[in-house]
Order: sequence, then C-alpha cells, then structure tokens
Amino acid sequence: MYKNLNDTLSAQQIQLVAVSKTKPNEAILSLYEQGQRHFGENRVQELVEKHEQLPKDIHWHFIGHLQTNKVKYIASFIHLIHSVDRVKILKEIQKQAKSNDRIIDVLLQIKIAEEDTKYGFDETTILDFLATDWSTRYPNVRIVGLMGMGTFSNDPQQTRQEFQTLKKLFDRIKKDHFATIESFRERSMGMSGDYTIAAEEGSTMVRIGSLLFGQR
Ligand SMILES: *Cc1c(COP(=O)(O)O)cnc(C)c1O
Repeated sequence: MYKNLNDTLSAQQIQLVAVSKTKPNEAILSLYEQGQRHFGENRVQELVEKHEQLPKDIHWHFIGHLQTNKVKYIASFIHLIHSVDRVKILKEIQKQAKSNDRIIDVLLQIKIAEEDTKYGFDETTILDFLATDWSTRYPNVRIVGLMGMGTFSNDPQQTRQEFQTLKKLFDRIKKDHFATIESFRERSMGMSGDYTIAAEEGSTMVRIGSLLFGQR
C-alpha cells in the first residue's frame, strides 16, 4: 500500500504526509524504514512524545487545532504547522519561533467545508489580514501556502468544488501577495477519502492516515 501510494503521489509531485495520530511508534517506524520522513499529528502532547522517541530526521507536521499555550512545546522542532486558523495563534508562533531563533513554516487554514465544526479563516478575513503589514510583524513566521479540509460527504462533486475554491483563493493570494516569493507554493488538501480528487484539483500535499495505518 505505502509504496504504490507514495510512487503515485511523487509522480505528481505531491508530498505524502502520513497522519500517525493515535498510532504507536512501531507503526511509524515501519513506514520510516520504507523511506517515509513526513508524519502528521494533531495533538501536542502525543507529538512531543513521539518526537522524543523517534528518529530525529523525521519532519513533523502539526495538523490539528493548536492552542496558544501549547505552541512553546513544538516550536523548537516543528517542520510545518498546517492549521493556522486565527491571527492570535500567529502572534504566539512568532514569539516562540523567535525565542528558538528559527523561522517556522505555516499554512493558513481556510474554511472550505460546509460543516461549521471545521476550523479556519473565511476568505474575507484572510484577504484583510494579508493586506496589513503582517510580514514585518511576524518576521519569524513564513507563510508557505494554504490548507483546507473538504466536507465529509458522499458527494464527490461537492468536495471537488471545495478544493477548487481553495485553489482559486491560493492563485489570487499568490498573485496579489507572493508573486515573487517562491516558497509560497503549498496547497495542503486531501485525506484518505478524497485525496484523488484533491490531486486532480491541484493539491501539493496530502494528509493520509487511515488508508496507510488502518482505521483509528
Ligand atoms: C486525521 C486527519 C487526517 C487524516 O485523515 P484520514 O481520513 O485518516 O486519512 C488529515 N487531516 C487532518 C487535519 C486530520 O485531523
């Protein structure tokens, strides 16, 4: 399973993030031994423990809703935070990145799904924010793209439209704010149930858990 999936995705230049939340270290190591280096977690405490116990060349992605008071525990090592869903969390990431003397890469999470349980910025809020002088206020934060979660539904057409919405917003933001900035390039979209649609709609990064590790 792993090898085929990874081959298919890398042929399309899509990064596979193996979502290992709730799964034991042995399961992670088994993919690690097959070459996987990017893993995603959604709870800070679990991530910190796994980071301590597992090989240090793993690139850890944070994909869950991040509480302000927990940024400090992951700031020294996190590879990419996918889930920046409010301005307040950016301020704290800036603070903790600076005190660790590093620049932390982040994605802005955009609410594209219908359910109101999903976190994320709406379009107006993010466009207003990007029109401010954010880059001077957050010098230790590098915004490298957008993330979105599709509606959990049986209607592939709805999911497809949501991913198209994210891609369109990405193109607009790229043109208006990052035209010359090469590092702004990621669209984190697609999970086990919808990654093929996401790939067709311009994903550069998929977050896949159950398909690789089995149901949680
Ligand atoms: C759990 C999770 C995933 C992976 O979900 P699967 O359906 O198991 O592939 C992807 N993204 C986020 C944000 C998640 O919380």
